[in-house]
Amino acid sequence: MEDSSKYLHPDKETLSRPELEALQLERLKQTVKHCMNSPFYKKKFDEMGLSPDDIKSLDDVRKLPFTTKQDLRDTYPFGLASVPLRKCIRLHSSSGTTGNPTVILHTQKDIDEWANAVARCLWMVGLRPDDVFQNSSGYGMFTGGLGFQYGAERLGALTVPAAAGNSLRQIKFMKDFGTTALHAVPSYVTRLYEVMKQEGVDPRTDTKLKVLAIGAEPHSEAQRQRIEEMLGVKAYNSFGMSEMCGPGVGFECEYQNGLHFWEDYYIVEIVDPQTLEPVPDGEIGELVLTTLNREAMPLLRYRTRDLTRVLGRTCPCGRNHVRLDRMRGRSDDMIVLRGVNIFPIQIEMILMKFKELGNNYLITLTTDDDNDNMTVEVELAGLFTDDYPSLKALEKNITRALKDEILLTPHVKLVPQGSLPVSEGKAVRVVDKRKVYQ
Ligand code: AMP
Ligand code: ZN
Repeated sequence: MEDSSKYLHPDKETLSRPELEALQLERLKQTVKHCMNSPFYKKKFDEMGLSPDDIKSLDDVRKLPFTTKQDLRDTYPFGLASVPLRKCIRLHSSSGTTGNPTVILHTQKDIDEWANAVARCLWMVGLRPDDVFQNSSGYGMFTGGLGFQYGAERLGALTVPAAAGNSLRQIKFMKDFGTTALHAVPSYVTRLYEVMKQEGVDPRTDTKLKVLAIGAEPHSEAQRQRIEEMLGVKAYNSFGMSEMCGPGVGFECEYQNGLHFWEDYYIVEIVDPQTLEPVPDGEIGELVLTTLNREAMPLLRYRTRDLTRVLGRTCPCGRNHVRLDRMRGRSDDMIVLRGVNIFPIQIEMILMKFKELGNNYLITLTTDDDNDNMTVEVELAGLFTDDYPSLKALEKNITRALKDEILLTPHVKLVPQGSLPVSEGKAVRVVDKRKVYQ
């Protein structure tokens, strides 16, 4: 492992498109054969009259059945395993707010490959063995904890499993241990900065921070830029999901021109969520992923529900792994209010344009007198002022800008800094208190 090398895995990262696709085809064939060990896929293939030998080209991926989160729930806990349980060494499970939770199983090889993928991402944005990597995300079932832990260790960085919350301790660690790289969900980074300000800590002069990895929840480009300005370092978008192990699926390179999805690990498809047909490059659709090197629980054409688009398949960084746009949200996070479809990220994008506003906001949906309404509470950036007319004028401007974007008029409420709830994990941006009429 050469320290001066730009790529951690040059043999995989710099493959030409034809080389990458040849590798994908070889791995796809193996994966499909291996899936026949899972009772779930065996049954699906039998019902569809499909055999692993039908996969002759990469396009044949479209012959394969889709897999959904519901399939994971229906086969809970072990029905999608493709290896005997005694070969598995780890299990991650999602909390599952409705119905059964989901379970993802890992063999030793899966854990190793996962660590390799995360290490590749961190190396790509400049981490080296002499870095100090502080991981401020929750450990336990949330894969951002162990995923980044193993990845940063694999790379050889000094890794600090700080876990989520306790901002004063986080800041002390950063200063005392000389943290150079930090991973956290974006909403927590902004919280951390507010505490730094209160404590009189200037991240630019009082810490050695040089790079941030932010992800696990949707955030706008404007939010990222704010984070970069606050901490004075680059913040790279990191995409992952438990079903695909966790972090390490997609990550931005130094050009920050979309997320490179590792195509030696996954086949990436973007489909129309209604017809399930592929959409042309550049058009928004649902991200569908097929795992290519998973042992315990390979997944074919997994419908992620995340909406994004292909930005390109080449990059000045020398990697030809597909670049995807930042996620605009999950199809199941979409708010449908009075027949209008709205993504929380659209609201965030507008709010972030106002310098007077802070970083925390909450969207509440209510039914008042049989009408469904949206209230957007947003924290002010500075001290709350008693200057009532100027606050009213600001509220009015924000309301107008939001209306232009979402085509509905929300109630905008400016609230003092620090007054909205902050979650230690992924931010809760929407509270739906509407009456449900059936
Ligand atoms: P979980 O499996 O609980 O970690 O959740 C995975 C989901 O988090 C994904 O399907 C996305 O909806 C969301 N997510 C993860 N990373 C990002 C990111 N960088 N940007 C936007 N959403 C993300
Ligand atoms: Zn690149």
